[in-house]
Amino acid sequence: MSFNQWLTQRIEKTKQAGLYRGLRTMSTAPQPKMVVNGTERIIFSSNNYLGLANDPILIEKALKTLHKFGLGSSGSRLTTGNTEWHEKLEQRIANFKNTETALLFSSGYLANIGVLSSLPEKGDVLLSDQLNHASIIDGCRLSKAETVIYQHTDMNSLEQKLKETQAYTRRFIVTDGVFSMDGMIAPLDQMMKLAKRYDAYVIVDDAHATGILGEGGRGTSEFFGVSPDVTIGTLSKAAGVEGGFVTGSRVLIDFLLNHARTFIFQTAIPPVSCAAAYAAIDIIEKGQEKRVRLLRRITIIKNNLETMGFKVYGQDTPIIPVIIGDAETSVQFSKKLQKNGIFAPAIRPPTVPNGESRIRITVTASHNDSQVEHLLTSFKNIGRELKIIS
Ligand code: PMP
Repeated sequence: MSFNQWLTQRIEKTKQAGLYRGLRTMSTAPQPKMVVNGTERIIFSSNNYLGLANDPILIEKALKTLHKFGLGSSGSRLTTGNTEWHEKLEQRIANFKNTETALLFSSGYLANIGVLSSLPEKGDVLLSDQLNHASIIDGCRLSKAETVIYQHTDMNSLEQKLKETQAYTRRFIVTDGVFSMDGMIAPLDQMMKLAKRYDAYVIVDDAHATGILGEGGRGTSEFFGVSPDVTIGTLSKAAGVEGGFVTGSRVLIDFLLNHARTFIFQTAIPPVSCAAAYAAIDIIEKGQEKRVRLLRRITIIKNNLETMGFKVYGQDTPIIPVIIGDAETSVQFSKKLQKNGIFAPAIRPPTVPNGESRIRITVTASHNDSQVEHLLTSFKNIGRELKIIS
């Protein structure tokens, strides 16, 4: 069998399992209305929660830095890729998160992998939420520690696992701050208490909470008033740019700088991205008005969908999962939304449990009232047509 025949067979299996994916092409900057595969759609699936990806202040800052520093950083942080902008941004992030210091990675994905593959040692155990993001799962797989899964956001299940794992040298609880597929907020206050009682450490991936939760948008730690041992974040969602970071104590950052392979062997993000992200954090910190606007939209969408009779999961976060049921109907629903000019994807097993296929709406502070109204009217009409609501 030739190389390509072998791969064709494998991709056929992916298709048969209904897991085949393709790309769609965007021809406009990230904003509520975008041209997708040549057709204008209202986007309800973006992580650009505060609308910063196309913000003029960020663009201006980026252009100035671009002219001085050029494009790529041309090296890893430990060789020639470390510019004053990387250091300025790290100081800004640490100050924003109220931690001693911060370390930049090229993405949130690589930050998770870097932390989880280097921090726990052989003989340790990682207690991981059942619905943690793929980058946490991959990080756990690369770790020398064992992994034990606890039920999603279930603190009784976590406590049970903590009781069962007393023989391990160290225990690390690892969780998403806001879960990407169901919009739930991890109960970090209870988790921190359990960690203290059972002598465990807490690692939080605040990718979806950074810029969103808490008065100053500092994430789950501010929302609950707690300080986890390690917090991971991304600059690619609410901050609208790219890059990941870890915040915590000076010794933690010193350790990661010396041991996290995704830090050591990766080319640093371009200085232009650092400068834009710096400007984004300034806006986020003072951006309470944007968060209030966003929360108002979240509340309107959730309340209206529930009143129509839809089952809606999640908490007060921009991720609004609307449960449709079987996978086929969810895909049909999403296609009908597209016909109505709306892009919101169907999420199916194995990403979510059987019978819980859903439309995953994400809303941003830059959606306007008429776009939200159009979304709600479309949901009502399609929901009735497909007999999901009466
Ligand atoms: N963690 C979570 C929970 C995420 O949803 C994502 C992005 N989908 C990441 C980490 C990865 O972040 P980045 O896009 O910066 O690699």
